[in-house]
Amino acid sequence: MKSHAKVVVIGGGVVGCSVLFHLARHGWTDVVLLERDELTSGSTWHAAGGMHTINGDPNVAKLQKYTISLYKEIEELSGQATGVHLTGGVLLAATEARLDWLRGVVAKGRYLGIDLEEISANEAAELMPLLDPKQFVGAVRNKEDGHLDPSGVTHAYAKAARKLGAEVERFTKVEDIVRRPDGLWRVITNKGEVVAEHVVNAGGLWAREVGRMVGLELPVLAMEHMYLITEDMPEVAAWNAKTGTEIIHAVDFDGELYLRQERGGMLMGTYEKANKVWSEFSTPWNFGHELLEPDIDRIAPSLEVGFRHFPAFERTGIKQIINGPFTFAPDGNPLVGPVRGLPGFWVACGVMAGFSQGGGVGLALSNWMIEGDPGADIWAMDVARYGDWATMTYTNAKVRENYSRRFSIRFPNEELPAGRQLKTTPIYDLLAAKGAQWGVSYGLEVPLWYAPSGVKDEFSWRRSSDFTHVAKEVATVREGVGLAEISNFAKYKVTGEEAAAWLDRIFACKLPKPGRMTLAPMLKDDGKLIGDFTLANVGDGEWFIAGSGIAEQYHMRWFEAHLPGEGSVRIEALGQKMTGLAIAGPKARDVLAKVSRADVANAAFPFMAVAKMDIGMAPCLVGRVSYTGDLGYEIWVAPEYQRAAFQALMAAGEEFDIGLFGSRALNALRLEKNYGSWAREYRPIYGPLEAGLDRFVAYGKDANFIGKAGALAERKLGGKLRLRTFILDADDADVIGDEPIWFGGAVRGWVTSGGYAHHPKKSVALGYVPKEIADESDGFEIELLGKRHAARMQAAPLFDANFERMRG
Ligand SMILES: Cc1cc2nc3c(=O)[nH]c(=O)nc-3n(C[C@H](O)[C@H](O)[C@H](O)COP(=O)(O)OP(=O)(O)OC[C@H]3O[C@@H](n4cnc5c(N)ncnc54)[C@H](O)[C@@H]3O)c2cc1C
Repeated sequence: MKSHAKVVVIGGGVVGCSVLFHLARHGWTDVVLLERDELTSGSTWHAAGGMHTINGDPNVAKLQKYTISLYKEIEELSGQATGVHLTGGVLLAATEARLDWLRGVVAKGRYLGIDLEEISANEAAELMPLLDPKQFVGAVRNKEDGHLDPSGVTHAYAKAARKLGAEVERFTKVEDIVRRPDGLWRVITNKGEVVAEHVVNAGGLWAREVGRMVGLELPVLAMEHMYLITEDMPEVAAWNAKTGTEIIHAVDFDGELYLRQERGGMLMGTYEKANKVWSEFSTPWNFGHELLEPDIDRIAPSLEVGFRHFPAFERTGIKQIINGPFTFAPDGNPLVGPVRGLPGFWVACGVMAGFSQGGGVGLALSNWMIEGDPGADIWAMDVARYGDWATMTYTNAKVRENYSRRFSIRFPNEELPAGRQLKTTPIYDLLAAKGAQWGVSYGLEVPLWYAPSGVKDEFSWRRSSDFTHVAKEVATVREGVGLAEISNFAKYKVTGEEAAAWLDRIFACKLPKPGRMTLAPMLKDDGKLIGDFTLANVGDGEWFIAGSGIAEQYHMRWFEAHLPGEGSVRIEALGQKMTGLAIAGPKARDVLAKVSRADVANAAFPFMAVAKMDIGMAPCLVGRVSYTGDLGYEIWVAPEYQRAAFQALMAAGEEFDIGLFGSRALNALRLEKNYGSWAREYRPIYGPLEAGLDRFVAYGKDANFIGKAGALAERKLGGKLRLRTFILDADDADVIGDEPIWFGGAVRGWVTSGGYAHHPKKSVALGYVPKEIADESDGFEIELLGKRHAARMQAAPLFDANFERMRG
């Protein structure tokens, strides 16, 4: 075994082997994979080998499509058969709600290049003869479904990597990982030590143990999973003989089943409701090529549905039941990327669909390691989407929930119950008493809307029980004054003698003067966005930044990686050490004036001013800015003072009929202003010009800010896309995001977010289209629940286009 390597990959399952292959293919050949046993000795060897392109997140779906397209290449390169059978498949809907969901999947497929087609239940039965069409209301055909040989694929990756110069060491167990003072990693094994610049944790079932070697508790948990293989079935033999083809795949969402042909019989797997965690706290090192005891009682309810939906199964014996463990992150997507605070330590774990996702994970990680950027939008699987709040108990609750809901519909207005009330703010009970309906953001309970007693969300794809109540909250803001809790923003404090110089380099905007704020785009080296913030110069060398709450860990990873080493700049993520309240509406200033001794008149405290002031007795930091696009203030307050500040504002607001508004009303309000948000409109695949944030980029400033060259190039060449706002002729449903935008009879763009703007009473969608059609005003259509709706471009904001309210 070599003593030094550029990269050590820990784990020879399908994911580790894919990472190794991609690193070598990308030109890093001084790389070695360490496997404690034979390759495939974790979850990989007993997988059912199914592969498919669809995923709830379109960017993950793209990487799944890439994974499937890769198998031919690695088979040719390695000479190792992968056993790929691209049979195609049907996705089945037994209810209308499921069919609505599937229509959304078909629609997304249009701009992802995934060939999906809605078909009737009878047409599905013609393709997949074992199903009873009477049990279904419709289906979708997917030509890119199939299955493969898990061991063959893993060995093909490994062999192809070796051919390119990478090394694989089997029976080499990593026992410890130690960071040297010079930043290199000592990877200590039962056969000696390798010193490496980078370490990749692809430990699969043991990813937690490998993480713990560097003090990291990863939010990963293994679940038992069962599939059965039947005896040979005459129906299968007859179909094979008649058509000369295999029986195609089927996913029966409502039965929570997946099926495919396995030799002369069928394989049927299920994500049972009565699921079981495996090895809750740590994975035994002596586990390897064993299977777990099958428990037919646990899967019996699913099998019953299976027998009804696929009657031939009832007439057939079960040859074998496989029960094996595999890992999940709390949301079921992989954990990939560099780990904050551990330079050179990377993870590629929590991959629950290794044969659909392994290739994409390997590609993204190798790009990231070599180029400094994953090369794709992988937010949905970035390890930084979790913070310390994703504890072991939280993970346990969410993984179990996610497993049992693997095939369940999640409606856009549906909040899931597991892992809740983990983080609450001091005014939680006060808001709850006012009827707050809660959602969750980065572990924190956030008020979505306020319901009268006895009313709650009815889950639906369409406008629902909250509609008229959210409309009232919107009216409260636009006509008087509303108060919202905004503690879910990320908040950062920056100090230090070099703080200004550092901020000037990290942000693309001009730095604000003391007492002023600005919108601050943050760019990557390639000039694309990596964040959008409000940057406030509080004075006396103190800076305050507010940004996207869900991206706190993601942004801290970036900030810290770019801090000067000598400690001349300090940045702290304040988390819930700083809570937030917002007041907005034409009467907002009147309310503030009543509770503050500061002069808050427009001349003294204009738009984008920031100052420390007391609200009642509570010391606060107040910025004159509002995401509602109205006259408004954001108030930042330490948690011990939040109740006092809240009560002072509510009492002062009484004479102006102050009312509470939640994040759904806030969404409706910001849509009227064409305001985007991080992880929706602003993502690392868009440039500032494309995203309409170029007006905040100080292209000419002296500081050589990160991404300057890329941003200048984008400005010169014009980029490819443009973010635009559309008004839809919608009936009873509004966009939620990821719907296709049609123009001239073809899909040309996609929606990033939207909803109903209650104040102008319009259905609004924000989305990207190619710049060539970005100045057309008409002729667009947006596909919603299987129907194309005429859409017009809305260039000027629907509300306060001349900024009179906001600045007045
Ligand atoms: C019953 C079942 C059916 C499944 N069906 C499918 C399916 O149809 N399609 C699909 O895509 N996925 C399926 N899966 C999931 C799939 O198996 C996983 O997504 C995949 O195997 C994960 O691969 P991995 O490389 O991340 O982890 P693993 O396969 O667990 O590999 C991790 C490797 O790391 C090694 N290792 C760990 N720690 C160390 C150390 N300290 N030193 C050295 N080596 C170490 C282990 O020995 C192991 O070989 C199924 C899983 C199960 C259990």
